Amino acid sequence: MTRIHTLGFPRMGAQRELKFALEQHWRGEIDREALEAAGRELRRRHWQAQRDAGLDFVTVGDFAFYDHVANHIQLLGCEPARFDFKGDEPELSRYFTMARGVAAEVHDHPGCAHGEHGRFALEMTKWFDTNYHYLVPEFSPHTRFGLASVRLFDEVAEAQKAGHAVKAVLLGPLSFLWLGKEKRAGFDRFSLLESLLPVYEQVLARLKAQGVEWVQIDEPILGLDLPEPWRHAFERVYWQLARNAPKLLLSTYFSPLADNLRLACQLPVAGLHVDAVRAPDELTGVADWLPVHKVLSVGIVDGRNIWRTDPDAALARLRPVAAKHRGELWIAPSCSLLHVPFSLAAEKQLDAELKSWLAFAVEKLGELRVLRAVLDGEEEGEEEGVAEALASARAAVAARRASPRVHRAEVALRLARRVAGDDRRASPFAERQAVQRVRFALPPLPTTTIGSFPQTAQIRAARAAFKRGELDAAGYREKMRAEIALAVRKQEALDIDVLVHGEAERNDMVEYFGEQLDGFAFTANGWVQSYGSRCVKPPIIFGDVARPAPMTLEWTAYAQSLTPRPMKGMLTGPVTILQWSFVRDDQPRSVTTEQIAWAIRDEVDDLERAGIGIVQIDEPAIREGLPLRRAGWKPYLEGATRAFRISASGVGDRTQIHTHMCYSEFNDILPEIAAMDADVITIETSRSDMELLRGFGDFEYPNEIGPGVYDIHSPRVPAVEEMVRLMRKAAAVVPPSKLWVNPDCGLKTRGWAETEAALVNMVAAAKLLRQEL
Ligand code: GLN
Ligand code: ZN
Repeated sequence: MTRIHTLGFPRMGAQRELKFALEQHWRGEIDREALEAAGRELRRRHWQAQRDAGLDFVTVGDFAFYDHVANHIQLLGCEPARFDFKGDEPELSRYFTMARGVAAEVHDHPGCAHGEHGRFALEMTKWFDTNYHYLVPEFSPHTRFGLASVRLFDEVAEAQKAGHAVKAVLLGPLSFLWLGKEKRAGFDRFSLLESLLPVYEQVLARLKAQGVEWVQIDEPILGLDLPEPWRHAFERVYWQLARNAPKLLLSTYFSPLADNLRLACQLPVAGLHVDAVRAPDELTGVADWLPVHKVLSVGIVDGRNIWRTDPDAALARLRPVAAKHRGELWIAPSCSLLHVPFSLAAEKQLDAELKSWLAFAVEKLGELRVLRAVLDGEEEGEEEGVAEALASARAAVAARRASPRVHRAEVALRLARRVAGDDRRASPFAERQAVQRVRFALPPLPTTTIGSFPQTAQIRAARAAFKRGELDAAGYREKMRAEIALAVRKQEALDIDVLVHGEAERNDMVEYFGEQLDGFAFTANGWVQSYGSRCVKPPIIFGDVARPAPMTLEWTAYAQSLTPRPMKGMLTGPVTILQWSFVRDDQPRSVTTEQIAWAIRDEVDDLERAGIGIVQIDEPAIREGLPLRRAGWKPYLEGATRAFRISASGVGDRTQIHTHMCYSEFNDILPEIAAMDADVITIETSRSDMELLRGFGDFEYPNEIGPGVYDIHSPRVPAVEEMVRLMRKAAAVVPPSKLWVNPDCGLKTRGWAETEAALVNMVAAAKLLRQEL
């Protein structure tokens, strides 16, 4: 008999109840007790949903008020000492201090380069290749561990009391250490392993004493290229942990096990979970290597995407495994369902056909039950509703496969017809640069901004009124034009050289384009946790992408009509649009990226025809798309840079293409950044004190660069001298003739007062430096 389970479930609730409770609590409107009660209620409902779906266990330990890694920091007693918590400070308030920092305390400790002091929040970073951000544990030689929270055990008791069979979940010790960060140069967090393990033993012993039969212990780092000591540690660690523990289900996800496959199969644990969506080809190998007495849990339902599972394809994968692995078989989503929206039930405005192609978290639980029934030979209606569910899934999958909404001949034709050189500018950079210098006649160290200006309450109110139908299209257009005119006037007064229209009309840099492209759909309630209480609602790319009409032309042309200065058109690049959406699973991601690239190219070409001389194509997400294993980097980067070049290469030499990226690690992908061949790249550098630029200098990055001279994340207005100092540093590593002067990123989250004050200083800094040239 096959068993079904899930690695985790969305925490926010069907209507994002957790978000609202958290924010009320942070505003002081509800107390800790009320927040705890809200959490309890959500867990109760979510366990009940798992029970109702026929799962063999409910999963306990996946809930978190902010982040599950932060929960482990408290469970394992390693809150960083710099928070200097007083003995009587309640656990939950310490938790939120770590997650959110203490507002007045900025990290500004003379002589301390490693952030060991001050109560600024823990750093946040992406959870593997997802858009979920976890709080980064901090490790130093002073780190001590000790069982310090009973929250997990309380939750287990809570679920048991509700009558559920419990499978507890923990992040494994190696992954926990790996995901943390050393706060002392020269210190290796791996050295903490020995002192961490006894605490894990205690946790496991306690769960066992509570009567928990299974503990799912997540070690997703088995899908990474691990240094040898880390790989080697697995066996020893799990021998030690398994001694007095419940049965351990070691779970891996997001990436092929590759060279860790045999290791994972042979660890002394009672079961292994593998991601059969990301690594379908490894299933046979796992079934071969996994000893018969162990449970094999196959992650067959996609936990990272929103498509309904094709039952026949899933069964075709599962059956040979079931035949080969004569031990116990479990089936599950590939990873935690944290990464998909809650339920389709809330989607009232998606059309019925499209909706029938989708499955969110609740629906995915239902799919497990159907797959199990068929696998166990009960499809003949023994289990209620199975035959109907199977038939409807088959019909939906077939309809999607054949739908003209998905497959459009003209899009396929366009990709097929491509010719050599269609992703290359007509002339090499040096020639373009010469032509562009004559055309724009900009001063040395030209000034510009990254695109957005403050999204004021007024702008948001106008958009909301427009969406509610209280403001008609003409009225909305007038309001946005007024905002654009305001932005242009302000930039002229500031004496900025290359202007932008300010992006007033954009809700979001991906959604704005998705709404105007064919092949995209939007949900009403498809929220996914990004970090803490923050959720995003990614668009769904369901079909071939095409651009029925220009998307930004009217706004940009209007802005240009107001000024003789060059107006920079502003677009989001194909990789970023893809990366921040749910992507179709019926063709390679690279094909979808390329379709978007051609649509963006049409927009760039239209802008050029309308007399816009400079176009920026933002690609902040290129780095995020990097596969978890190095072996995948090259093909990915080739596709990504090619897509960018397709979008940028329809124009003549006189048109200047900019790109923008806002993250701080470039050095390992500089050749690919250069291969994008943008005439100008603007990047975030101020927080790294221009250190980041050194890589560009050493690499002799060929084209022009605008290193950000001030941090837009803070309302602080930087002084002229600060920016002068940063630009001098920049000019020491990159020839000044290649440099631009601009902020780190867009200014949409700032107010006008601080924005204008900062830009006055930025322009002054540029003018000062020009005199030195
Ligand atoms: N053009 C966008 C803006 O200025 C870029 C945002 C980003 O890089 N994330 O807002
Ligand atoms: Zn940016």
